[in-house]
Amino acid sequence: TQNVATLKTLPHRLKDDAIPSWLEVRGEVFLFKKDFADINQRLDEAGKPTFSNPRNAAAGALRQKDVETTRERPLSIYLHGLVRVDGRTFKRYSEALQYLAGLGLPVHPLSSPCPTLDDVKAFVRDIRDKRHGLDHEIDGVVVKVDDIGAQEELGATAKAPRWAVAFKLPPEQATTKLKDIMVSIGRSGVATPFAMLEPVFVGGVTIQTATLHNEDEVARKGVLIGDTVIIQRAGDVIPEVVGPVIEKRTGEERPFVMPAACPVCASPLVRREGESARRCENLECPAQTWGRIVHFASRGAMDIEHLGEVTSRDLIDRGLIKDAGDIFHLDAEAVGKLPNFKAKSIQNLLGAIDGARSRPLDKLLVGLGIRHVGGTAAQTLSSHFGSMEAIRAASVEELTLAEGLGETIAKSVFDYFRRPATIALLDKLRSGGVKLDVVKAKRDGHLSGMTFVITGTLGAMSREKAEAAIADLGGKVTSSVSKKTSYVVVGADPGSKYDKAQKLGVSILDEPAFLKVLAGEAS
Ligand SMILES: [Zn+2]
Repeated sequence: TQNVATLKTLPHRLKDDAIPSWLEVRGEVFLFKKDFADINQRLDEAGKPTFSNPRNAAAGALRQKDVETTRERPLSIYLHGLVRVDGRTFKRYSEALQYLAGLGLPVHPLSSPCPTLDDVKAFVRDIRDKRHGLDHEIDGVVVKVDDIGAQEELGATAKAPRWAVAFKLPPEQATTKLKDIMVSIGRSGVATPFAMLEPVFVGGVTIQTATLHNEDEVARKGVLIGDTVIIQRAGDVIPEVVGPVIEKRTGEERPFVMPAACPVCASPLVRREGESARRCENLECPAQTWGRIVHFASRGAMDIEHLGEVTSRDLIDRGLIKDAGDIFHLDAEAVGKLPNFKAKSIQNLLGAIDGARSRPLDKLLVGLGIRHVGGTAAQTLSSHFGSMEAIRAASVEELTLAEGLGETIAKSVFDYFRRPATIALLDKLRSGGVKLDVVKAKRDGHLSGMTFVITGTLGAMSREKAEAAIADLGGKVTSSVSKKTSYVVVGADPGSKYDKAQKLGVSILDEPAFLKVLAGEAS
């Protein structure tokens, strides 16, 4: 896609005279530490929340719909695999990498053939010592068999090739002072204690907070406020408190007491039998409202661009929205009250909200944040019942009749639709023009009776759009390949489904052929 052209280390022209007619490569997209710092500085200056680590910032940046947005995140790439090149074969992986480098393509400078296992060990030790001196973060070293003939002989399991092993570097630890333990309230009201730390540099970043999960965990770890504690950070995992350094105690430390009331709305924090968490049970708690709105607008749910954490907070603080339903009653005058919202940004936000009115029912169900209902359960509910009204009216027994819905989910869904707040929310969504039914597929479409599996990334449309297009024409999209599959659509970087399709002899469509099938020009 065009986004790939924004990658900093990737040249737009190859160097060699003998340019191959076909070249297919694999690589990993990442951020240099310096670029990561620049992004955060810009976000900070704009008053926006910053990213906690480069991996978060890089993830999704390539998938941005707007090339300009991707360009603002200066991503880089290193290639680590040659999939196919016309007119050439290589005996060794290291030769293939050299060939790529010769074409002017970015190959990681720190890769080296290691003839013996001792060489491999020495190499890993060397990288471990160098890791913080590198200009980007790493979480380990990949050891690959250099002999390509041997690679082919070793083959692959369903998940990964047998000729490559990732050696993860151990998580790094540091000690620092635990200044205080605070409590944050999530969208379901769960109160999570977290440690406020003296800033400490660990695993390549400075951290000031670390999660403590719940009060039992605080007790189990035996940490006191004022303790010197060991902090650990592994890869992109949230930093955690490992435990106290007892020898450093001065006697000034004091135990953490879980507050009896919500720090945001002052409602009592209740711990139900059999649960490790305490919850704020006030559904109107601003902390929960915020968490729910952010979740509702998130990519996996209603995907409302321009309605992120900061804007949600501002809308709630100004009393412009109290729940997700209010989003669809916002107008230019209301949005214009937000700080830094000018004509263009008002238009962007209202446009994004309008687009969300026609999201599929399962995305809306995910967005509601019903306990235990994730993407799969939402799809089941959506396809089994076909409308929000039918789901709302269903008894627990009727809900369990939907394939794959257990008692716990059914009970949770039933309870959710009995709450007065839910009824009010649904009314607002309906009057706000949000689609609450499944649009039935046209059964007479020219793809009716056909089953499709999509693997890899398509260039012309997103996976969701492709699935919707197939469904619109009466076809069905499934996730696994079988002999009954009519077509496997193969995009860039296909997964194991591609191999399986070849094995089973299922018809394979590349993207141009797929577009023709959609257009009814071939089948
Ligand atoms: Zn509260």
